Amino acid sequence: MPMRMDEVFETLRQYQEMLSKRVELEKQLEAMPKTIEIQNQMLSREKKSFSEVKEQYELSESSLKELRQALGEAELKRENAEKQMDGITTQREYDAVNKEIREASEKEQELRRRIQEEERRFAEIDDRLHRIEISVSTLDAEIAQKRAEIDENSREISDEVDKLRTEENDLTQELDEDLKFKFERIIRSKSGMGIVPIHGVVCTGCHMILPANFVNEVRQADKIVFCPYCSRILYYEEMEVDESMEEILTGSLVDLNDEESEEPEDSESNDDSDDTSDKSKRGSARKKKIQSEPLIDNDFLVDNMDE
Ligand SMILES: [Zn+2]
Repeated sequence: MPMRMDEVFETLRQYQEMLSKRVELEKQLEAMPKTIEIQNQMLSREKKSFSEVKEQYELSESSLKELRQALGEAELKRENAEKQMDGITTQREYDAVNKEIREASEKEQELRRRIQEEERRFAEIDDRLHRIEISVSTLDAEIAQKRAEIDENSREISDEVDKLRTEENDLTQELDEDLKFKFERIIRSKSGMGIVPIHGVVCTGCHMILPANFVNEVRQADKIVFCPYCSRILYYEEMEVDESMEEILTGSLVDLNDEESEEPEDSESNDDSDDTSDKSKRGSARKKKIQSEPLIDNDFLVDNMDE
């Protein structure tokens, strides 16, 4: 025996709650790895600058080595010249050796100055390298910790998603597969709202005024009707038509056809609905006639909803 329409609607409303919860959880799951993207980017920047600074470190190290070697040679040259001084007999020889000593001393001084300079540079580079190493290991640790958190949270959320899927399957056993498929797609694309009431002649999902034949189809409640504008599933809910509504309805767009309402249809007054309207839902509904047809076929809309 097939489900009654009011049962289908009730099932869809419950299904909607589960689905929107699940869709939300799935979004969280998807977003989670992105939370360490910034740290990962920082890490790769730090690693890149580490290798650059390491190169400078090595250059500075080898240039220090060369300078020290040159200093050693200059010292040796000066010492040798100084030794020659003892065996000197002529002024000419003296001048030549003296010149050698002076030049070697000048070179020594110049080299000592350059070595000091290079040592300062080397110390700076060494310091930078050390700081980058600390930063890299800090980031490594942060990322590892965050990964562990993500893994744990993901497991919890996945378990919850699985639980919801089981509940969904239990709830929707009697629903048509095609309907379930469409409904989930609507929920996904319409931020969690897939089944909405029409108030008067207005779809509360997209606030469009619906064609009268549509409203009638929804009121008859003998099949699933999708809003021709927003593709949500519609059901009828009695409510008072407010003044702004009257204005719209008396406009040139529509052909107003007042009739007294046939019966109050009070069965829909469920207090747990989060309807923000404090208007009484007692049946003062009027039958409105609107001279327009839905612009697009439902199936087309639903099948082309993905952006
Ligand atoms: Zn709509």
